[in-house]
Amino acid sequence: MLEYNDHVAVAVSGGKDSLTMLNLLVKLEGRFPRSRLTAVCIDEGIEGYRDEALELARSACEKLGVKQVVASYRDLFGTTTDELARMSRGQTPCSYCGVFRRKAINRVATTIGATKIATGHNLDDEAQTILLNMLHGDPLRIVRSGPVLRDPRGKFVPRIKPLCDIPEKEIVLYAYLTGTDFQSVACPHGHEALRNDIRSFLNQMEQKHPGTKYTLIRSAEKLRSAQSTQSPLPELHECEKCGDPTPHELCEACVMLQAVAV
Ligand code: SF4
Ligand code: ZN
Repeated sequence: MLEYNDHVAVAVSGGKDSLTMLNLLVKLEGRFPRSRLTAVCIDEGIEGYRDEALELARSACEKLGVKQVVASYRDLFGTTTDELARMSRGQTPCSYCGVFRRKAINRVATTIGATKIATGHNLDDEAQTILLNMLHGDPLRIVRSGPVLRDPRGKFVPRIKPLCDIPEKEIVLYAYLTGTDFQSVACPHGHEALRNDIRSFLNQMEQKHPGTKYTLIRSAEKLRSAQSTQSPLPELHECEKCGDPTPHELCEACVMLQAVAV
């Protein structure tokens, strides 16, 4: 996932996963003098929730001596997750929030010259996403995602998920054992109902049949290697509105903004 001279933009939300990842990457980075870390914190504009997380992220960065960059949806896109949730036409707040977060992190990473983006997805998140994509009828998304995402067209900063093999429970344990102060309040918009159901289902399965989550991840890996030579990636050009790379005339975020403005 990492090269000795990477400048890693670490996506830090203030939750247990991203702060654990930051802790571990700081330890690793110390052994590689030519590498660099910058914490990237995104303010989605979620009242009563994001401020506390940003403060926890700020104090963790200060303690660990990591430079922090904060970017907000308001500044980048002229709106917030709260506003999008109010204007939503059939989409969950999380669908907007996820699309805008990926875009925001990529923009910041490009601006600071980062060579990798690290996100704190854990084993549970990854296993849930695989099933979620199947149930949304989008199996190709499973093939397109993964622990390391490199864009051969060079338009997106490569993304890595260093914790993707670590169960959520172990991350919580690590955070407690290292005295990491993390946000434990849930986002008021909650996660998609379907993801919550999948989480409960997978936890039950894991309890009855240990290894279920790892098996799902390994199945997705097999699908990816079988598919990798089959379909070439679509060509990317500039979004007509924001200029970010997209295979279509408008990028996904601009399509979403247009839909809520109607
Ligand atoms: Fe955004 Fe959904 Fe996460 Fe809340 S739960 S921060 S709305 S993705
Ligand atoms: Zn756009």
